[in-house]
Amino acid sequence: MGTLQSLDKQYVAGTYARFPVEIVRGEGSIVYDTEGKEYIDLGSGIGVTAFGIADKAWQAAVIAQLSLVQHTSNLYYTEPCAKLAEALCAKTGLKKVFFGNSGAEANECAIKVARKYAAEKKGPEYNVIVTLKNSFHGRTLTTLAATGQEHYHELFQPLTPGFVHLEAGDLQEFEEILANYKVAGILMECIQGEGGVNVVDGDFIRGVAALCEKNDVVLMIDEVQTGNGRTGKFYAYMHYGITPDVVTTAKGLGGGLPIGACILGEKVQNVLGFGDHGSTYGGNPIASAGACNVISRIDDALLREVAEKGEFLKRFFTDLPGVKSVSGMGLMVGIETEKPAGEVVKACMAKGVLCLTAKSKVRLLPALNIPMEQLQKAAEIIRSVIAE
Ligand SMILES: *Cc1c(COP(=O)(O)O)cnc(C)c1O
Repeated sequence: MGTLQSLDKQYVAGTYARFPVEIVRGEGSIVYDTEGKEYIDLGSGIGVTAFGIADKAWQAAVIAQLSLVQHTSNLYYTEPCAKLAEALCAKTGLKKVFFGNSGAEANECAIKVARKYAAEKKGPEYNVIVTLKNSFHGRTLTTLAATGQEHYHELFQPLTPGFVHLEAGDLQEFEEILANYKVAGILMECIQGEGGVNVVDGDFIRGVAALCEKNDVVLMIDEVQTGNGRTGKFYAYMHYGITPDVVTTAKGLGGGLPIGACILGEKVQNVLGFGDHGSTYGGNPIASAGACNVISRIDDALLREVAEKGEFLKRFFTDLPGVKSVSGMGLMVGIETEKPAGEVVKACMAKGVLCLTAKSKVRLLPALNIPMEQLQKAAEIIRSVIAE
């Protein structure tokens, strides 16, 4: 074992099962390890490096800001933060943005907004947040409570109370929950990422949106993984013709720097007032400058490309020997293989392709601008591993 790996094992908290590979540099969707071995990257740092590694335009935006001012605190105005908020509102039609530094923080903010809105409108007993079974919303105690997967909960009781988990697709159960609990809001992914790249049924999503509107319940869509062009629309909810009250996002937004955003629609735009929420780093100028660059490049042409590459992947893997099913949208693809997904990922790595798992599936989240030749080459390598 290299010294770096033993150093990391000795001193870094053991929360991650790392692969025995040290990535030292890259260019776009190609990365290199210490031995100079080349990999095609279909994971993009779990959907974060939206335009790949060391992308020139993103780098230029970040470096330009880095040479001006790196941090001021939220006591003062900075341009990248305000411009980024404007851009996100222009893309969504929503009204205001709160910035944090991660997906979990974006969801924390959303939950606070839903609770405050309901408390003021209906009374403080209206504090229940509904989330879906098999969802993933983050690792803080409150977003863990939101996460509808028991195995994440076990060792960390008591979690934040007030969460009820609903079976995805069961609109009648949602109606029953609305009748039986004092509900403030519902938080859900349109495609469950960590839960196994499960596309949530469109009629259910539209039905939930209609019930939220009817009952004045805050509709929060978690676009941490599905957002910022990933599924072939700017945000995944845009496939369904709904208007959420709150959209949370992170991952691809920063292109590789930590940033999270909680975007507030008309109904809740003024719920947060002075002192209600805050984050020392939130809206950091460097992260925001990088994010402005990312957002400015997610145009219709890019989204079409993402959709086409996604169609290619789905066509390529559907009905292949060793493949049980293919799910996802755009460049968020889950492949259910006969072999254990972990084994497939390991064997792909040995052959020069980085991919992810999600539950029992192999998960692909390549950079949005991955060149078609690289995508094709990587797909062929995965095919050879799956069929072996
Ligand atoms: C990754 C993820 C989160 C948590 O984001 P962090 O930045 O790790 O806090 C929340 N929701 C979804 C859907 C995610 O995929």
